[in-house]
Amino acid sequence: MAQIIKGDEIAKTITDKIKDEISNLDVKPKLAVVLVGEDFASEAYVRGKVKAGKRVGIEVDIVRFEQEVSEEKVIDVIKQLNSDEKVDGIIVQLPLPEHFDVAKIVNEISVEKDVDGFTYYNAGRLFRGNPLLSPCTPQGAMYMLEAMNVEISGKHAVVVGRSNLVGQPLARMLTAADATVTLCHSKTKNLKNITSQADILIVAIGQSRYITADYVKEGAIILDVGISRDEHNKLSGDVDFDNVFDKVSMISPVPKGVGPLTVAMLLHNTLKAYKGELCG
Ligand code: NDP
Repeated sequence: MAQIIKGDEIAKTITDKIKDEISNLDVKPKLAVVLVGEDFASEAYVRGKVKAGKRVGIEVDIVRFEQEVSEEKVIDVIKQLNSDEKVDGIIVQLPLPEHFDVAKIVNEISVEKDVDGFTYYNAGRLFRGNPLLSPCTPQGAMYMLEAMNVEISGKHAVVVGRSNLVGQPLARMLTAADATVTLCHSKTKNLKNITSQADILIVAIGQSRYITADYVKEGAIILDVGISRDEHNKLSGDVDFDNVFDKVSMISPVPKGVGPLTVAMLLHNTLKAYKGELCG
């Protein structure tokens, strides 16, 4: 029977520390969230960020635009936020409407305020082993392993999903932590053969309950990053939790798994940007 990794409790230990630290500051950190259109899921994520910020004392300003807004208008506002000394962190809530070039918009964010770690500059720093601000979900997953005292060095870590936001930076972080890493994706042949060799298996594919017991090794540690809705509109991860539960040694659930860590890392990055604690 597996140990359940309680992401919400781990996140609370991080946010409690952030809250304590901020309570001693005269000027509170501020995060600006650029939100375009009225995507239902984005609205919910942004509400979650505002609430989490409020709990620790980080002011979260939402800068809203209508769906039809031009790229130029959004870029102008990002430039203003870059030069606003009261703003410590800036994120652009994704997805953006289809007429937007996401990379172009995100790369307008000043690298010292890029608390999602999505700019080319910050991605490059991470990949060269000298990160400034790292993306929140992979950082949260790594924090989760650390909090659970998982020995990473020398382990075979398999990451399924190679997005720029999750899978690739996570594979890089695991490599930096001395794991032997295999990165899989939709064109991977014999996925099952590979995942069932993983000591640590991290799945970020967005396919509800795709990973079943035949994909996992006995005693493996599983982090489930995926967030989908099942046929009953219930939140579900990429891993069939009930099916693998008796076979693995640790597993993060969905919800209350990696998700809360993502938000905690956003607050962590915002405080880091506020303090200017960014190694040169
Ligand atoms: P993307 O859609 O950008 O990437 C999905 C990746 O999964 C791609 O690399 C794709 O391969 C791969 N993939 C898809 N289907 C399969 C399959 N059947 N077998 C193997 N690989 C597959 O998604 P994201 O990385 O942005 O997000 C992944 C999931 O994580 C989503 O459910 C998302 O909602 C969730 N998420 C959760 C967060 C949290 O805080 N918990 C934060 C961010 C995301 P290919 O490259 O070949 O197309």
